[in-house]
Amino acid sequence: MMKKGSKIYSIAHQTCPRCQNDQMFDSANPYNLPKLMKMKDKCAHCGYVYEMEPSFFYGAMYVNYAITVAISVSIFVAMYVLGTELEMKHYLIGIIGGLFLSAPLTYRLGRMIWINMFVSYKREHDKA
Ligand SMILES: [Zn+2]
Repeated sequence: MMKKGSKIYSIAHQTCPRCQNDQMFDSANPYNLPKLMKMKDKCAHCGYVYEMEPSFFYGAMYVNYAITVAISVSIFVAMYVLGTELEMKHYLIGIIGGLFLSAPLTYRLGRMIWINMFVSYKREHDKA
């Protein structure tokens, strides 16, 4: 079970990294595509301003890149192990399709992991 207070909790539930009470995004569902990138300015519970400095979230692209590589490798390995007589084009279709389908989730995960690298849970803000 995921415990409140851990970074994993904030990342999995897309909550404010500091108090873990409020959702960071307008819609909790990343596949609600019109709202995929709509992020709140600050936490309704503790008032934390998510974009602590201009272009703070540009760095999330590095996290996205790492996730993208990990997904690609996972798909390749899974296809290699499970598939028979697969050609290069099958791997390409599988990987590109997998990345396409997971893109909204990857985008959200990148931002959640990135902000949690800099901001930690604080109990006193949780109670605020
Ligand atoms: Zn908060």
